Amino acid sequence: AKNVPKIEYVPTICPYCGTGCGLNFVVKDGKIIGVEPWKRHPVNEGKVCPKGNFGYEFINREDRLTTPLIKENGEFREASWDEALNLVANKLNEVKAEDPNKLGFYACARSPNENIYVTQKFARVACGTHNVDHCARICHGPTVAGLATCFGSGAMTNGFDSIMQADVIFVIGANSMEAHPLFGRKLIKAKQNGAKIIVADPRYTPTAKIADKYLEFKTGTDVALMNGMMKYIIDNDLQNTEFIKDRTENFEELKEIVSKYDMDKVCEITEADKDSLIEITEAYAKADKAAIVYSLGITEHSHGADNVMCTADLAMLTGNLGKEGAGVNPLRGQNNVQGACDMGALPTDYVGYRKVADQETTDWFNNYYGTNLSTKPGLTLVEMMNAAHSGDLKVLYIHGEDPVLSDADITHTKEALANLDMLVVQELFMTDTAAEADVVFPAAGWGEQEGTFTSGERRVQCLHKAQDPPGDAMLDWKIMEQLAIRMGEDAHPEQFHYETSEDIFNEIRECAPIMAGMDRKRLDSPEALHWPCLSEDDPCQPLMYTEKFSRPNGKAIFMPQEHRGPVEVTDNEYPLLLTTTRVLFHYHAAMTRRCKTLDNEVKTGYIEMNSEDAKELGILDKEIVKASSRRGSIEIAARVTDNIKRGIVNIPMHFTECAANMLTNSNSFDPKCKMVELKACAIKVEKM
Ligand code: SF4
Repeated sequence: AKNVPKIEYVPTICPYCGTGCGLNFVVKDGKIIGVEPWKRHPVNEGKVCPKGNFGYEFINREDRLTTPLIKENGEFREASWDEALNLVANKLNEVKAEDPNKLGFYACARSPNENIYVTQKFARVACGTHNVDHCARICHGPTVAGLATCFGSGAMTNGFDSIMQADVIFVIGANSMEAHPLFGRKLIKAKQNGAKIIVADPRYTPTAKIADKYLEFKTGTDVALMNGMMKYIIDNDLQNTEFIKDRTENFEELKEIVSKYDMDKVCEITEADKDSLIEITEAYAKADKAAIVYSLGITEHSHGADNVMCTADLAMLTGNLGKEGAGVNPLRGQNNVQGACDMGALPTDYVGYRKVADQETTDWFNNYYGTNLSTKPGLTLVEMMNAAHSGDLKVLYIHGEDPVLSDADITHTKEALANLDMLVVQELFMTDTAAEADVVFPAAGWGEQEGTFTSGERRVQCLHKAQDPPGDAMLDWKIMEQLAIRMGEDAHPEQFHYETSEDIFNEIRECAPIMAGMDRKRLDSPEALHWPCLSEDDPCQPLMYTEKFSRPNGKAIFMPQEHRGPVEVTDNEYPLLLTTTRVLFHYHAAMTRRCKTLDNEVKTGYIEMNSEDAKELGILDKEIVKASSRRGSIEIAARVTDNIKRGIVNIPMHFTECAANMLTNSNSFDPKCKMVELKACAIKVEKM
């Protein structure tokens, strides 16, 4: 018996989507050999999707980065930590002395909160710049901007389970069955409980297939669609007058703007079927409890914040806020993109959404950190890349993100990175972005550290270390400490000394009142805690706005919007509108494409096109075609289908060899939140 290897189970949280499912690592001889769904976990209840099931396979791959790398004459060579850290610290000091705002930082939305908090603190405290951002800018930046404007907070208004109490669920721009499968399971359960599910989408997705009513409409026309719904509601006296009067302001302006959107005009813009649109409007407005669910189909537009504010307006108009089974429920993309926003990896906000521009707040942080930070917000992720392109940013330090694959217009991104004095990438693997770097730091990954993730329903959950990092790979926050030490006294190295990740978490609690009540003992249970969690006796429940909104006067505000549509429109040369999506088996690429089981399911990309469009172009299913936009071209297999609207084509964004973002447009961004238009650009498709 003494030779039987010991198997241990270490609780953790899935590192893929924002649903935040509980898993247990299966550990043998100190190595992770598998995962099992966490049976007592309240979100996934012992179930798991393919990414959760097989997504651990990347952890112990041979191609993990295990030693720092320095590029010389275009080739990487191995280096000691000392050499690589000194090189980067000296460069950071050199550029900081010239102008700290020539430094930029991307935080990692897949990393634990503690790493993200220290990353943004390093940018601010060690380097003196607010130039720190992360991928929410190009996924849920419009949610933060839009919902915070209307309600005072940019978060999901209800918990995930709340959906199961709904009478009607209006899903717009979200394909939960693929992108958030265990939330998709809750939609199915809601349907079994009697909820009517409505899905509005340009594609007949797996989520549309479970709907009671599917509405096809044109990409980029969400504002017109929802304005039409709101006009119909007001014209037919279906609004909740009492809620509007008691709990909102600016209703008259909403009435005035939406009055221009009669159903005929709306159906002309959106190409939606009028009877269907009236049917779904009535279903939503007449329900006692109606929930809105949305995701990146709403946000990744040049008018993403407008779209989000329309969802908020629709919920306010019908009084569907502050109660179970209702609300505005954005589904966050990455596992910890909610946490990355909460932690202050934003150029406008410190941890806990405390505003950089507010003098009193900045004074508080300067006092706390011993710094002299300004009240001028930093550059967003999109602005940093543009500043690199124009030569105004000298050093970019990227933690665990892969903008060469995920940002719009890959050619522009590569030119920008090549124009830097130094690109530093902290990563698990040699990604497309790491390949462009001057210095690569090998980082510890999922399963190799303690910490917390915050799921899309604001549930802060603990994850635990199950094995040591490979080779010389180091914890992110320790790398930051080592750099600060080498940068010297002006970098405040004393501010980066922590014994454990719990020390960092306790500092977060001190700085962010919304998390003040979250002590680690309370967190370390399957249920964990949701923010706002103001004190240790606060029950920290998920439902928000039961009595008042988070705006200063406690009321929500209608923010009516005019339809603008995509920046780049189709024409004779580029007649098709490209949208980009995810597939069930992949999440970006760096991790899932290195999981053999997942990669075997979908091995490469494809372009979905309507069978009538394909017929006109003489294109057959599986034929390799050339897809081009004004930015570039790719060769890709055609997938001919009737599950997508005519005139719209779709490419999943995970595949380097036929990267959708070779075609997308980095010049079309939302003025309210700097989101680039990843979901709509004009392309052409040709036979090869
Ligand atoms: Fe992981 Fe999301 Fe799948 Fe849950 S639904 S197992 S969090 S990828």
